[in-house]
Amino acid sequence: MKILILNEAKRALLTSHTEKRCAASPNTVAKLTRKGIDVFIEQDAGALSLYEDKEFEAAGAHVVDTIEPIISQINILLCVNSPHEELILRLANNAIVIGHIDPFFQKSLVTKLCQTGITTVSVEMVPRTSRAQKMDALSSQASLAGYVMVMKAVANLPSILPMMMTPSGTIKPAKIFIIGAGVAGLQAIATAKRLGASVLAYDTRPVVAEQVESLGAKFLKIDIGDTGETKDGYAKELTEQQKNKLEAAQQKAIADSDIVITTAQLFGRKPPLLIKSSTLEKMRLGSVVVDMAAQSGGNVEGSKAGETIKINGITLVGNGNWSQDVARDATDMYANNIFNLLDEFIDADTGNFLLDLEDDILANCVITHNGAITNDMLTEAYKGA
Ligand code: NAD
Repeated sequence: MKILILNEAKRALLTSHTEKRCAASPNTVAKLTRKGIDVFIEQDAGALSLYEDKEFEAAGAHVVDTIEPIISQINILLCVNSPHEELILRLANNAIVIGHIDPFFQKSLVTKLCQTGITTVSVEMVPRTSRAQKMDALSSQASLAGYVMVMKAVANLPSILPMMMTPSGTIKPAKIFIIGAGVAGLQAIATAKRLGASVLAYDTRPVVAEQVESLGAKFLKIDIGDTGETKDGYAKELTEQQKNKLEAAQQKAIADSDIVITTAQLFGRKPPLLIKSSTLEKMRLGSVVVDMAAQSGGNVEGSKAGETIKINGITLVGNGNWSQDVARDATDMYANNIFNLLDEFIDADTGNFLLDLEDDILANCVITHNGAITNDMLTEAYKGA
């Protein structure tokens, strides 16, 4: 079996994006080659996560300066992001593509993948079950994002987080309000607490309150009636009335905070708008707002995808692709997620990837196969698009 890993840093630059992560680490390449798999890796693929070609070579990979001679022969293409359409057309039609496909918002790409007959594994669709936890790239990258967002906020704040009592005066702990306490939000809470901040958090899923409090933060209680959650544990969209109630109840907490970090997402849909400009205006000069969702539509009005901007003395951080800021750890964790997925389904005797679509993990995350879109949630979403 032949696997190819792309140099996504180089490819992202062509579209004026940045990507520092790589879909494999020397450690995962060594584990794959020990299984008798031929691993090809595009030159400098690990450079921005500080892995050199010679480390991949020592792990048994073939480092290639061009993918041309092998692209049509490979069985599996491992990506961090979705591959470019032009590249898909050069793959064999029985090839498997694995990566962040962003399928709900990439109908044209998924249609192309489907038409070529390629099998696509979308890591976003890996189910949130105990068996699949080790393959859950959304969680691994969201944990790192939670940490990075606090670091970004701290780097932009004109004050410190912990309380400091000195002969020169006493500094009160910074106040941080975190909206959305899923994987990223909880990690942001833990990071902010470790740095000595006073942390308040809110989530529409009341079940999260206990987890917030167990990290030493306070949970903001707002009664907006039934919010519920999907069968996969994701938040549901709120009614207009609930949204208005939330906004009013959160205004005081936002105005009172030095840092606000928003991490609210709705699976398969645009993130909810949580903070309007009129609320931002109530914040103190020098306060920092980090909008995790800036790249996918934004939780905060006015945030700019990929940028840190200032609005009336407030810093608004919308950088996005947060985990690539800690590229080595992000690559390690993502590469482990991908290896664990492969390891689960590679047959020990033949070395082939067994596409068992009855298996609950593959039944969810395989989104195209044999010329069809195989995920019902996606088919439904495309009908409504
Ligand atoms: P997510 O990225 O979809 O959303 C982030 C958070 O935003 C969620 O907690 C959500 O409730 C919250 N949110 C949505 N709308 C909001 C609003 N208007 N105001 C405030 N908050 C809002 O979710 P996620 O972080 O990927 O995780 C969702 C859940 O799945 C969590 O409970 C998590 O613990 C669980 N999970 C389970 C597993 C597993 O069992 N293997 C793995 C990962 C996550």
